[in-house]
Amino acid sequence: RFITFEGGEGVGKSTNIHFCATWLRDKGIGVITTREPGGTPVAETIREKLLKAHHEEPVDPLAELLLMFAARAQHLNTLILPALEAGTWVLCDRFTDSTIAYQGYGRQLPMEHIHNLKALVQHNLEPDRTFLLDAPLEVGMGRARARADSAGEQIDRFETEKLAFFERVQHGFHALAAAEERFATIDASRPLTDVQQDLALELEKLL
Ligand code: C5P
Repeated sequence: RFITFEGGEGVGKSTNIHFCATWLRDKGIGVITTREPGGTPVAETIREKLLKAHHEEPVDPLAELLLMFAARAQHLNTLILPALEAGTWVLCDRFTDSTIAYQGYGRQLPMEHIHNLKALVQHNLEPDRTFLLDAPLEVGMGRARARADSAGEQIDRFETEKLAFFERVQHGFHALAAAEERFATIDASRPLTDVQQDLALELEKLL
């Protein structure tokens, strides 16, 4: 099974993916965890460039979109699909829903381009289940900022993007979750134990 985790900045995706992987492994299921953009050496190089390029030059939105899908093609064909074919569950931190939210709603690139690229790269593949970790912007951004102080990777984006950008992204995730059956929205502003209780219940349904 292919499970993706989506959401804005600082909603706890990595912590909760780790929790879900451990939960599934305890049930004897073979699981890998991975992330986008990234997940393979080539795709991680694209990620590195995308997240740090702001130091060197502004990234053209269309170039950003194409790089997201270039990274995704590499990730999908060399890691995700072989794992799924081998019967391994794949838990992925962000996938195409993030591209729709960030590059589509956030950067306001034409959705038609995104859907064309999605069809080209994914054919008919969709995640079996998508967990939207949802928290008010102030909660997530506060957490992400605190982490950015020590990590350095994300700080560029908080300096270059306006709040309105993140509001559009958030709205994009909500629109996707309302439209697509595969989404489960989890209120990630609650204590971690509550969030993980919900995730465990959702995972149980997939067994
Ligand atoms: O998921 P994570 O926080 O590691 O994402 C790293 C950064 O990449 C985030 O700041 C997010 O804004 C950005 N991103 C993006 N477009 C995507 C996926 C991620 O701008 N499609």
